[in-house]
Amino acid sequence: MSDKPENSRRLEEVESLIERFPDVPAEAVFKEDLLRLGVSFSEDALRVCSGFKPKSYFIFSFDLRPITEMDQGENLRAPEELALVGGPRDFRRTIVSVRINPASAYCVDIVDGKLLLLVGTEVICGIELQETPEYYLRNLQSGRTITEIAPTIEWGYLVYLTVYRKCQYFGFKEECQFCDINENVRQQKEAGRPYDTVKAVEEVVEALEIINDADVERRTGAYTITGGSITRHLRGQDEAAFYEAYARAINSRFPGRWISKMVVQALPVDDVRRFRDAGVQIYHPNYEVWDPRLFSIICPGKEDYVGRDEWMARIVASADVFGPSQVIPNFVAGVEMAAPHGFEKVEDALASTGEGLDYFMERGITPRFTVWCPEPLSVLGRDQGPAPLEYHVGLLRLWRETLLRHKLPAPPGYGLPGIGNAVFSVSSFMDALPGDLEVARLSCESRVGAGS
Ligand code: SF4
Repeated sequence: MSDKPENSRRLEEVESLIERFPDVPAEAVFKEDLLRLGVSFSEDALRVCSGFKPKSYFIFSFDLRPITEMDQGENLRAPEELALVGGPRDFRRTIVSVRINPASAYCVDIVDGKLLLLVGTEVICGIELQETPEYYLRNLQSGRTITEIAPTIEWGYLVYLTVYRKCQYFGFKEECQFCDINENVRQQKEAGRPYDTVKAVEEVVEALEIINDADVERRTGAYTITGGSITRHLRGQDEAAFYEAYARAINSRFPGRWISKMVVQALPVDDVRRFRDAGVQIYHPNYEVWDPRLFSIICPGKEDYVGRDEWMARIVASADVFGPSQVIPNFVAGVEMAAPHGFEKVEDALASTGEGLDYFMERGITPRFTVWCPEPLSVLGRDQGPAPLEYHVGLLRLWRETLLRHKLPAPPGYGLPGIGNAVFSVSSFMDALPGDLEVARLSCESRVGAGS
């Protein structure tokens, strides 16, 4: 492999940010860069990776190329996550979600029998992979796999239940502009992956029986119920009733077994109470982007059906139901810099996002973020690259500084904070926290009726 000028430039940029911001772990800087740019694999590496826990496409594609442009069949052979370890920089273990990009400067390859992460010929670190868990080897009675019904991410910590794989915000006038959920269903089905649109409640519970039975070391610590928005009805139910049924069934069958999370829209407080009474402990009413003008452009469906100010007011109101530390709205870090409407300067983007962090954190609510992946089947990802790495490093510092200034603990439901401990794989917010920071305690167990 010859070193190309773009590879040298890539490393120069990363190294200069590591030097400028020594308070951010170097591992986290590389992780953010991998998440924004994706990773490629050599054929030899794929041969090895395909024997480990596979990428499950747990909700969106989270790739920088459509499946039709993956000439090596990466969609079926790449692993769910990479652990960055050791190497010349002596990395502490850092878990990164795999976002496939055959054109990325970052490449997983085998050199001298070792699986490594490289940029050109320069070794960044070693790579470890997660063994395929025992529960992935057992199918449901219907023949469906655990990978389809109840995949795990975050190095096996989080069971991810996308129970509705589509979104009723449909088409470019309604869909969030960074999101490829509906297009991803289409491409997965075309590629032959079993990818049912709606999962049956009974099959989700059956899959969890298998996981509970096989996971004797109790590595799975939490589950998330999620899926697309339901603006009208789905199988005769509104959004709250549809998603609540899963939480109620799981928490009745497995009271207290997992931390229970729900990622759905910011709903009226009566609906939110229903989730709590069904045993949900952590509510994620994601606001995606803080700036009011950008919210209306980037989330046109949410703007039309709910409205941005009402959305934010509902987030705050839900803190009275769950307790503020158990309301954790997500935003998509970097979309506020997407052309043609986004901020052009990193400092303006951070100022806007920081305003949102202050707004919520002074109320005890801790937003968290995922790194924007410009998925080519989404509106914003069609013809542009990601936000600058400088923005992402600046955000890690800003988020941590705001959290500590408001004297808040680490958000619950993500395992331990700190580099070498964290498992959250789609941004480094947990990696960048001090390792000895207290984690917020959950106010109640995951039991049906626990909050009422
Ligand atoms: S609400 Fe927006 S982000 Fe969520 S699934 Fe629908 S389009 Fe995607």
